[in-house]
Formats: sequence, structure tokens, C-alpha cells
Amino acid sequence: MSPGVRPASLPTPPPRLDPETQPYWDAAARGELVLPLCPRCDRLFWYPRGACPRCGATDLSWRPASGEGVVYSFSVVRRAGGAWAQAVPYVLAYVTLAEGLTVAANIVGCAPEEITVDLPVHAVFEAAAAGDPAILRFTPAAAG
Ligand SMILES: [Zn+2]
Repeated sequence: MSPGVRPASLPTPPPRLDPETQPYWDAAARGELVLPLCPRCDRLFWYPRGACPRCGATDLSWRPASGEGVVYSFSVVRRAGGAWAQAVPYVLAYVTLAEGLTVAANIVGCAPEEITVDLPVHAVFEAAAAGDPAILRFTPAAAG
């Protein structure tokens, strides 16, 4: 596990991997967030995929992101099934990145009661085990 990737604090179901999004996963494995950029639209988009959702271009580039954002909205999950049953309560949030995109992800590293709308957060990556895909999550910016 690279220094930029933390042990998972929540279940990390394996994501769907494909060659088109390999640059995203390679950066995630280093603990770095990159965003797909369409060269024709000159706009970033989310989620990572192999073609621009606006124009269909496939000659994407991957732009390093700050990883900084604020909580736009969130939900505290108190009942869940499967592997998630043991993880409750946990938080699923929409985080608006400094780059303007809104990302759905878990917030970790704090109690659900500490999370508020507009709370500054930053990206962290978690993996279930060394070599597993690193999953994007967020933690309060004050938590380091
Ligand atoms: Zn485009």
C-alpha cells in the first residue's frame, strides 16, 4: 500500500476497472486525485469514464485535482445490508470539489455528528489490502 493510501475504514467493494479509466486508478494508488478532462469541451467531468459525457470524445487527459472540497449534502446511514451492516453509522455525502465538480463519496475519520453542510474536506484514498484498488473518500480538512 503506497504512503498515500490508507487502510480501509469502511467496506471497499471492488470497483469496475477498465483500460479507459486506468489513469484514474493509477493516480488513486498513489493517493492522488485526477479528473478526466475533455479536450474538445475543455471541461472536467465526473465520474471517470472513457468518453466525455457531453460530446463523446475519447482522447481525454487527466488533470491533477486539489482534493479539496466542501460538503454539499450528506446522509447518515444507520441501517445497511451485507458488509455495510457492520459499518453503520456511516456517511455518504456529495462533496463539491474546488474544481467545481460534485462527487458522491463516503466521509471518514470523524463522527457523523461532526459533519455539516459546507464543512471543508479533502480527498483520501483507502484500500482493503495492499494492491487493491484505492477508493476515493473524504475526511474533514481539519483532521489532517
Ligand atoms: Zn467533450
